[in-house]
Amino acid sequence: MRADAVQQLRDVHGPDRVLELLPGLFRLPIPLPRNPLRELNAYLIRGRERSLLIDTGFREPACRQALQAGLRAAGAEHDPLDVLLTHIHTDHTGLASEVVRPGGAIYIGRGDYPFTSRAWEEEYWGRIDQRFLQEGFPPEELRITTGTNPARTLGPDLDLPNYQPLEDGDRLTVGEYTLEVIAAPGHTPGQICLWMANQQVLFTADHVLFDITPNITMWPNLPNALGRYLESLTRIGTYPARLALPGHRHTADLAPRIQALLAHHRRRAAETLAIVRREGGLNAYQVASRMTWDIRADSWADFPLNQKWFATGEALAHLEYLAEEGAVVRALDQEGMARYTAQ
Ligand SMILES: [Zn+2]
Repeated sequence: MRADAVQQLRDVHGPDRVLELLPGLFRLPIPLPRNPLRELNAYLIRGRERSLLIDTGFREPACRQALQAGLRAAGAEHDPLDVLLTHIHTDHTGLASEVVRPGGAIYIGRGDYPFTSRAWEEEYWGRIDQRFLQEGFPPEELRITTGTNPARTLGPDLDLPNYQPLEDGDRLTVGEYTLEVIAAPGHTPGQICLWMANQQVLFTADHVLFDITPNITMWPNLPNALGRYLESLTRIGTYPARLALPGHRHTADLAPRIQALLAHHRRRAAETLAIVRREGGLNAYQVASRMTWDIRADSWADFPLNQKWFATGEALAHLEYLAEEGAVVRALDQEGMARYTAQ
């Protein structure tokens, strides 16, 4: 491990420069304009015949330029490239179809693989919209969020033969490195981490971030996403990682971060339960409006609509988890809206 480069990646205000963390393994910083995540860590592993790019940035000019500059700095601008997407979010996937070389693979976890079909994806967004309406999200607000959510506008071409699903336990070899796929459902249904056993390096992607709490929302195709996320966190904690490589910003020690994330969600679930205990019969949108958020807005009414959408998704994930635990009951009222009461 290159101690100096690793130390730079541990710096909270770390440098926006390409770092060679291990021989032939680079971190490429990709800015995310107008996004609170600020920047993405793409990683490049140079192989003898083919190189592997892990995540890409949005499909937009600033990301494209940074990625090309990063590949050049790593000496890889002419390498035949395969791409591995740690999950389906467009800040990770956006440029995949542009940078993959003809015949190259775009790997993605099995649980997110269905999203690489346009027809499936469109049907999925229809299901999400229906579900949000049922959970109390106002129709006029939903109409405005549709189309402004970057999830829907900055992604790669879909329906390509390059997409290949990865299963838990699959192994990829690139240069001197062997990457073992760990399915870590939660942040998305098909979120994966990658384990390099010989080097004790763990790519945590967005499953574990160090100064941001990974967003956990409701997924129609992943029941109880929060419960699954907590299981995946516990599992990832069993890997003796000397270096964790996150999908965004800086790194730090893994074990205490996992404990902090588990504690965070326990607190959040307790807060959600307390709201439902105080006021039975709320819908998820109303529960979200009563939770605490660190967003600069005076009141729920002043929240940007996209933030309301994400907040409602997070509230739903916690309500689903509490229902699974038997602490909360979800029932449809006469209008078909879902209402939550404490047991
Ligand atoms: Zn993500």
